[in-house]
Amino acid sequence: MHTYLGIDIGGSGFKYGWGNSQSGLQYFSSVALKNKTMEAFQAAAAEVLKETDQRFGLSRLAGIGIGTPGTIDLSTGLITGVNPNLHFWTGKDPRELVPADLQLPIRFDNDANLMALAEAKASGKKNILGITVGSGIGCGIVINGAVHHGAHGFAGELGHVCVVENGAKCNCGRLGCLESYCSVDGIRNRLAEQHPRYADLTLSQVLSLRASDPLVQDYIREGLKQLCASVARLIVVCDPEAIIFGGGAMDLGLYSLQDLKAETGKNLPELNLTGTELKTAVHGNRAGVLGAIMLFEDSN
Ligand SMILES: [Zn+2]
Repeated sequence: MHTYLGIDIGGSGFKYGWGNSQSGLQYFSSVALKNKTMEAFQAAAAEVLKETDQRFGLSRLAGIGIGTPGTIDLSTGLITGVNPNLHFWTGKDPRELVPADLQLPIRFDNDANLMALAEAKASGKKNILGITVGSGIGCGIVINGAVHHGAHGFAGELGHVCVVENGAKCNCGRLGCLESYCSVDGIRNRLAEQHPRYADLTLSQVLSLRASDPLVQDYIREGLKQLCASVARLIVVCDPEAIIFGGGAMDLGLYSLQDLKAETGKNLPELNLTGTELKTAVHGNRAGVLGAIMLFEDSN
């Protein structure tokens, strides 16, 4: 059985590990980003490769899988779109983070797609949607066991579906996108518009205010309602076996599975009420790395 290195690129650091989809990860760790620049990305990638070489040996790898934020244009293989948190990443090829002289096959995909792929495999289901709740909202679509990219690679951009006409300003520059209501950045931006004291709060700090601050409570409740209304639409349109919620904000408890189920149920026709299971991700913060390794599954 081959061993692959999986790298999951995030705005605050790179998670990585090696293993394969049969036996899981043999090693998992992360490297923090010093800042959000291309140079910091290259330094983090170099650190990952150095650690992997020292602890396992790069020559023993059969390939490197990379999960990245942002939309990938299938016609060019480059990151496209606005990427409000990582402007410098637009137009880049993630494979450039790995030196060509390693001569290893490299595959890459969007991080939410890889989370969905890993969770589909873990749940034994072939038709699922994975939704990541973090600084933005990601969505991966798995149909018949494979990621659905759409005709151009743009499928699953749930976070930028407009849910409120002329609504809250999104990091992408448009108004009323779903993630401007229910993602961490969205909720924080809306709070900061009311008072600057909210502007620099971490998610944990926002959550600790939830019990005592009615404004925080209101905006989180509105986020839940908007997210669940969109989830219900996805269920009606796609009829998946499961919707699986993951991402850092789910781990920290921004929304509970119980609330997601109750609120989504309010928006569903009777026909759809019981068919689609709502679950939280079992792989937690490792799903992206595992999904990156699974990109090589069909080449074994
Ligand atoms: Zn947007």
